[in-house]
Amino acid sequence: MSVHVIGAGLAGLAAACQLTELGHHVVLFEAAPQAGGRARSYFDKQLGCRIDNGNHMLLSGNISALSYLHRIGARRSLTGPAQPVFPFRDAKTGAAWTVRMSPGSFPWWIFTPGRRVPGTYWFNYLRLRKIQGAKPADTVAGLLGGSGALYRKLLEPLAISALNTMPQDAAAAALSPVLAETMERGGYATLPRWARIGLSETFIDPALEWLRAHGAEIRLGERVTALRPGQATVVATPPWVAAELIPGLTVPDEFESICNLHFKYQMNPGETGFWGLVGGLAEWVFARPEIVSVTISAANRYVEMPAADMARAVWGELAKLFGLEAGALPPHRVLWERRATFRATPAQMKRRPGPYTPNPNVVLAGDWTGTGLPATIEGAIRSGNAAAMALLNPAG
Ligand SMILES: Cc1cc2nc3c(=O)[nH]c(=O)nc-3n(C[C@H](O)[C@H](O)[C@H](O)COP(=O)(O)OP(=O)(O)OC[C@H]3O[C@@H](n4cnc5c(N)ncnc54)[C@H](O)[C@@H]3O)c2cc1C
Repeated sequence: MSVHVIGAGLAGLAAACQLTELGHHVVLFEAAPQAGGRARSYFDKQLGCRIDNGNHMLLSGNISALSYLHRIGARRSLTGPAQPVFPFRDAKTGAAWTVRMSPGSFPWWIFTPGRRVPGTYWFNYLRLRKIQGAKPADTVAGLLGGSGALYRKLLEPLAISALNTMPQDAAAAALSPVLAETMERGGYATLPRWARIGLSETFIDPALEWLRAHGAEIRLGERVTALRPGQATVVATPPWVAAELIPGLTVPDEFESICNLHFKYQMNPGETGFWGLVGGLAEWVFARPEIVSVTISAANRYVEMPAADMARAVWGELAKLFGLEAGALPPHRVLWERRATFRATPAQMKRRPGPYTPNPNVVLAGDWTGTGLPATIEGAIRSGNAAAMALLNPAG
């Protein structure tokens, strides 16, 4: 069968790989001159080096993402600590702590004060079990209490980064599969992982190479404006484009931004190469070769803040916490992804369609479709796999 895949983000690439592997001829259309969508690398002239549009972290329990990387021969291009270790700093107090999970599924680590969040007791962690019983209308903060050391120093930062939505608004049901597939399976399913060189080098370029080598046709810079009648098609575009291509489709229509700041500065990577920060603007810091990268998720709340003020404030936090040169702001780039993901609120979750459409020749993929997962790499890849299988099984 000949299949058109529209959109060469991770969802479209995953669908294209799956269909190609099953022997179908894929033509992949991408409107932009390069593939990758919201996960891509580029050469930044101002900084004089390659950067990612944003830091992307995976966990070792993200099995669809790891299988995808295995298929395209890029599994070894990830990096990260050998142990499930999460160092944190508090921007308000300067306090530092490191969560050191135990590897297996029984959480021995919560019984050892030096391995768990300071100021917590083992029984506080039982609260996490509530997430698995989350009802569609529950929010993360509503279900987990929204206060206390465990919430503020671990659950809130994890929830904001996984859901890209503030916990008082975010659907707890979107967090439950994330926790079930990672933390609840134990430390070995919670190893932090990211692209060693860059997002494109790990997730995108090897996929394009694999697809070409297996006979797929890749058409970059070709925007699809209408579906071809009778043509088997995977629509793997952002939701607003899918709704234009398929009139009457209900899709998420509220979005959250993510702000990434890249500072040209060589910082000591410490034990893990990254830190979670609470109590300030910066939320995750990655010490990469030549570059210190900072992520601020659910960033609609800062949308009025000028980029220069943001850069100064974030550098000030880093300087204080890590003993860097406070006065000299290094060359930097502030990148806003305005529609980084849909807002994972209970109302928006209801607007996520499954892969099927009324037209049996047309299926949907994208991190915004009804994977059950939040809008993540794992969700995007899983949606691409699901769309490919839905196209081959139109009866559902
Ligand atoms: C700054 C940032 C940080 C993030 N951090 C993380 C993280 O730490 N961990 C994590 O797991 N996830 C993270 N994510 C989320 C992750 O990047 C996305 O979930 C994933 O990349 C979405 O892939 P997708 O294929 O669903 O969509 P997209 O990447 O948006 O792909 C859609 C593609 O369709 C193309 N297109 C649009 N219209 C047309 C058309 N008419 N014809 C042809 N092509 C078209 C677009 O150009 C695009 O390439 C982050 C996202 C951002 C923006």
